[in-house]
Amino acid sequence: MADMIYKTLGKTGLRVSVIGFGASPLGSEFGTIDPAEGQRAVDYAIDNGINYFDVAPYYGRTLAETRLGQFLEGKRDKIFLTSKACRYDILDFDYSEERIMRSVEQSLQRLRTDYFDIYQIHDVEYAKREQIINESIPAMHKLKKQGKVRFVGITGYPLTPLKEISQTEDIDTVLTYCRYNLADTTMDDILTPVIRSRNIGLINASPLHMRVLTEKGAPEWHPAPEKLFKAAAEVAELCRAHGTTISDLAMQFALAHKDVSITLVGMSKVRHVETNIKLVGTEPDKELLAKVHQMFKPVSNIYWKEGLPENDDPGAIDKRTLGLERNEEMKQ
Ligand code: NAD
Repeated sequence: MADMIYKTLGKTGLRVSVIGFGASPLGSEFGTIDPAEGQRAVDYAIDNGINYFDVAPYYGRTLAETRLGQFLEGKRDKIFLTSKACRYDILDFDYSEERIMRSVEQSLQRLRTDYFDIYQIHDVEYAKREQIINESIPAMHKLKKQGKVRFVGITGYPLTPLKEISQTEDIDTVLTYCRYNLADTTMDDILTPVIRSRNIGLINASPLHMRVLTEKGAPEWHPAPEKLFKAAAEVAELCRAHGTTISDLAMQFALAHKDVSITLVGMSKVRHVETNIKLVGTEPDKELLAKVHQMFKPVSNIYWKEGLPENDDPGAIDKRTLGLERNEEMKQ
């Protein structure tokens, strides 16, 4: 087993494991899970060096927080824990100070703790910029002063708002998802230079492109176009022929990024935690990687519209689905 590697998370100074545990699958976002296996996955992750856990009230509409709270019982002091406020359902957002203050108490209770190492504004692209800057971020700083959160972060999909907020506001971390992986590297064109210059902690979530870059393939609700799924299936076949898997290659590719402190992958099964940890410190096969990039080329860097229109990245396309299937998938 490879030893875990730790990096400093920007100006927070926290020494975080390069693999973070994304807890959205614990909320059955990718289909129902066996809670006992979820507990074992969390235990295995902690025993093998993962010290960063990410969750949100949105995941499983509070189920992921409740489960993670149970699973972390007695282990809170071994890890860095982060949750989020402002997003509560696919189309339910509230960026007000009042709701943030209420939400943090509820999340702390579900997670059986009295502080978060990092607390994040979930999906800033769904809010007016003025509200984020004049209300939501100041509310987060109030929580910092009260000792309920140690550091403040923002998350989202379009890179333009993440970049612009990072340029001017006092934030410690930025989480971006599905924008640095085998099929999309636009994070580096837009966000990475600003993050680097301001020493903000960079968290790259969804390195498997929310399951597109796995043998199983995308869930029903995935917003990307079908042609990406088709290309990924062909890449998966090629990887198999090379004696590896598309998910291994995708993790190796993401983990190699120098500016990313945490590659945040969603997990609910021991075998996934074990596989992903084994990849720490390993290199992707260069020849295979070049072939895979070539195969993805016609569908690479395709990103969709998410949030208010004024927050769209230039060139974003319409989503394949609204994502409402996600609620159905959670119930299966
Ligand atoms: P992901 O790309 O990490 O994919 C997760 C899926 O891949 C799950 O179905 C999981 O079971 C599967 N998987 C994990 N390891 C695997 C392996 N080795 N082989 C095969 N399958 C494997 O997508 P994600 O879970 O959406 O993203 C990671 C985490 O980042 C989330 O859980 C969440 O905590 C965070 N996140 C945050 C935001 C936000 O704040 N806006 C958005 C997306 C993700």
